[in-house]
Amino acid sequence: MVGPGSFSFAVRKRLEARHGRSGVISTPHGDIATPAFIPVGTKATVKAVLPETMKEIGAQALLANAYHLYLQPGSDIVDEAGGLGKFMNWPGPTFTDSGGFQVMSLGVGFKKVLAMEAVDVRSDDVIAKGKERLATVDDDGVTFRSHLDGSKHRFTPEVSMGIQHQLGADIMFAFDELTTLLNTRGYQEKSLQRTHEWAQRCLDEHERLTAARTHRPYQALFGVIQGAQYEDLRRKACRGLESLRGSAGTGFDGYGIGGALEKHNLGTIVGWCSDELPEDKPRHMLGISEPEDIFTAVENGADTFDCVNPSRVARNAAIYVAEGRFNINTSRFRRDFTPIDETCDCYTCANYTRAYLHHLFKAKEILAATLCTIHNERYTIRLVDRIRESIEGGYFDEHKAETLGRWKGRVPAP
Ligand SMILES: [Zn+2]
Repeated sequence: MVGPGSFSFAVRKRLEARHGRSGVISTPHGDIATPAFIPVGTKATVKAVLPETMKEIGAQALLANAYHLYLQPGSDIVDEAGGLGKFMNWPGPTFTDSGGFQVMSLGVGFKKVLAMEAVDVRSDDVIAKGKERLATVDDDGVTFRSHLDGSKHRFTPEVSMGIQHQLGADIMFAFDELTTLLNTRGYQEKSLQRTHEWAQRCLDEHERLTAARTHRPYQALFGVIQGAQYEDLRRKACRGLESLRGSAGTGFDGYGIGGALEKHNLGTIVGWCSDELPEDKPRHMLGISEPEDIFTAVENGADTFDCVNPSRVARNAAIYVAEGRFNINTSRFRRDFTPIDETCDCYTCANYTRAYLHHLFKAKEILAATLCTIHNERYTIRLVDRIRESIEGGYFDEHKAETLGRWKGRVPAP
C-alpha cells in the first residue's frame, strides 16, 4: 500500500534482467492494468469522442490539463460539479498534469517566440528578436499570460496543488519547471534545485489539502523527474524526490518522468530513473505515443503514458496502422472501400470504409474527427495492452521484434 486511502500499486510480472514490468494501479475510481496508455482529454473531453466510447475502446483512465481547466471553466466550477470525473461523465480513474508545461510553453507562446536559429546553440535566452517573453519563472513560481485573453496569472506549487485538488483527479503531478534541451548545463542544475524545492512545497500543500478535504476520495501525488539528458542530474532528482516527506510524513505516491529528452536517449533516461526509484511506486512517462518509444519506455520501466497525438493527428487525417502512419485524405483512397485497418476491432473499422473517411475529410464534416480519433485511440490503447499481455505471457521480446518489424517496414496500406 502506497499513500493513504485507496491508492496502491502492485507489480505483477517483471521482464528478465530489465526494469520493465506489468502491474496494477488501484485508485478510488478503479484499477489500471499497466503498462497502460492514458488518452488525453485536455479540457475535460477527448475531442470529438463520447466518454462511453472511450470506455468501449478500452481506455482505463483519462488525463486532463490543469492549466486549461483553471482558465476555463475554472477549477472551482469543476470542484462544485463533484470533480473532473463527474463533471465529464467519466466514472473511471483520472489524471491531471500540473499545468507547469503549459504555463511555460503553450500559455506563453513559447514555440512562437522561440528564436529558431538558436536551435543548435545552448543558451538560456532564446527568445526571438522583437518578441515578448510571456512567462517569467522565479524561485517562487511562474507569472504568465493566458493564451485565451492575455490576462495575467501566477502559478506557484501551492496554486497548482489547489487547482488539482479542486479538479479532484485520482493522480496529480507536482508543479515543476520545464527546461528545454537548449538550456545550458548550469541552468539545468539551477532548475533542478528549484523543482526539488517546489516538490517539497507541493507535498506540504497536498498534505494540508488532503486533511482539509476529507469529503473527497484520496488523490495520489506524483513527483516529476527532470534533469534533461544528464545522468547525474536525473539520478540526483530521483533520489532527492524520493527522500522528501511532508510534515505529516507523506511522500510521493509515484513519479512522472518529464522534461527535455531526445528520442534516442529515451530508454537510457527511463532506465536511470528506474534504477533509482522504488519498485513499488508507478512511473508515468509524459507525452509519448509512437510504438518504438512505447516499447523502449516499457522495457526500461515506465508503467503509464499519456499523449495527445493519437487524437490530434486524427483530426488532421493521419491514421495509425500496424505498418505505420498514412493520410486518409490523399486521393488514392477516393475509391478504396476497405476498412482503415482489416485487423482493427474498433467501431470505425467495423462499419466504415477508407473512401467514406476520405470523403468526410474532403467535405470538412466533423464526423471525420470522431471516426478517426476512435481508431487512433483504439490503436494506441491496444498497442500498449498487447505489450502488457506479452510481458505477462513471457513473450515480450518476440512481440517487440514482430511489432516494430512491421512498423519500421513502413508499408502503408495499398
Ligand atoms: Zn480501427
